[in-house]
Amino acid sequence: MGFSAEFSRKMAEKGWLGLSIEKQYGGQEAGFFRRYVIVEELLAAGAPVSAHWIADRQSGPLIQRYGSEEQKQRYLPGICAGQSFFCIGMSEPNAGSDLASVRSRAEKTVGGWLLNGQKIWTTNATRSHYMIALVRTSGSAADRHQGLSQFVIDLSAPGVEIREIKDLNGDAHFSEVFFKDVFLPDDTLIGDEGAGWEQVTAELAFERSGPERILSSIVVLEGWLNWLRATPQSHDEKLGRAIAHLATLRELSISVTARLAAGESPIVQAAIVKDLGTSFEQELPVMIADALTADPRLQPPRSLMETTVFVAGAAPSYSLRGGTREILRGMIARGLGLR
Ligand SMILES: Cc1cc2nc3c(=O)[nH]c(=O)nc-3n(C[C@H](O)[C@H](O)[C@H](O)COP(=O)(O)OP(=O)(O)OC[C@H]3O[C@@H](n4cnc5c(N)ncnc54)[C@H](O)[C@@H]3O)c2cc1C
Repeated sequence: MGFSAEFSRKMAEKGWLGLSIEKQYGGQEAGFFRRYVIVEELLAAGAPVSAHWIADRQSGPLIQRYGSEEQKQRYLPGICAGQSFFCIGMSEPNAGSDLASVRSRAEKTVGGWLLNGQKIWTTNATRSHYMIALVRTSGSAADRHQGLSQFVIDLSAPGVEIREIKDLNGDAHFSEVFFKDVFLPDDTLIGDEGAGWEQVTAELAFERSGPERILSSIVVLEGWLNWLRATPQSHDEKLGRAIAHLATLRELSISVTARLAAGESPIVQAAIVKDLGTSFEQELPVMIADALTADPRLQPPRSLMETTVFVAGAAPSYSLRGGTREILRGMIARGLGLR
């Protein structure tokens, strides 16, 4: 969650951003697996990856896949240079799990579209340059998957207002974003008008299966391991279970990455990784807190206790962001032919 524009720029200088983007747009054309390896190392180290995170993970690949030639040239070099930061404008006050009922609406006007509406829970909205938003361009909310489109919104445009929301830990990393007659030029529509649902569904496969869906609590596991190494106490069984669980999840996540690398949209498989992975991420701080407090004679380091408390405070959000547990399980059931 740490945000550092400077860190992101240095990542780009090393050639560690835009790994799946073509070279002609400033990328590395190195593929999804190289990104996987780099991301794992960054998360394990607790690196401040938040500034470039969404652009690098999903906005860039989305623009590469669905954007026009002109859009690729306009947006991708800045993403690969760690200079253009993006946020995701999907959720609205009454359209979270039920994303197809979004009400923000873009009406056609001369040379573009006029957008009115509201997004919510937009991570990094205050610090991003652009939002890729899912909005309605025809029909009504009752038309569900029909009539939705995606736009790249310049967040400095007149009519955009952003208000921060504080989370359980007191941090304000997400916001409400309001649109009042925001003019979106024609060339900010991504892909085809009305194809927004298909595009957003493909985008969610990138969002749901990566190492960040199993490693959000890894810093606590590392801290616990270090402490165990330095003390004679043994928690082998719990530790062994956690590591074995993590190794299995990693194999699952890697196999979904292989599907993405092959150009597929492994939506159900990605939902399985996210459901199992976030359950693990949520269990870890609870299990470690129990272990740290099991014996009153033990004196774990204060920093480890503080990190555990922080991660325990953030953990409830893991199974909400990117789609809730109940919604993912519904998708999995459907994918298995059970609904
Ligand atoms: C840390 C964090 C960051 C986020 N960042 C972003 C972001 O950058 N961009 C963005 O667009 N959104 C973001 N979100 C929003 C997130 O995608 C939504 O919170 C999520 O999709 C759930 O929507 P909701 O909050 O409206 O809950 P609701 O949809 O109202 O759900 C409430 C509860 O009801 C359950 N429920 C709903 N429908 C059903 C059903 N049909 N069957 C069974 N149970 C159901 C849900 O599982 C949940 O437990 C973020 C959320 C968090 C927590």
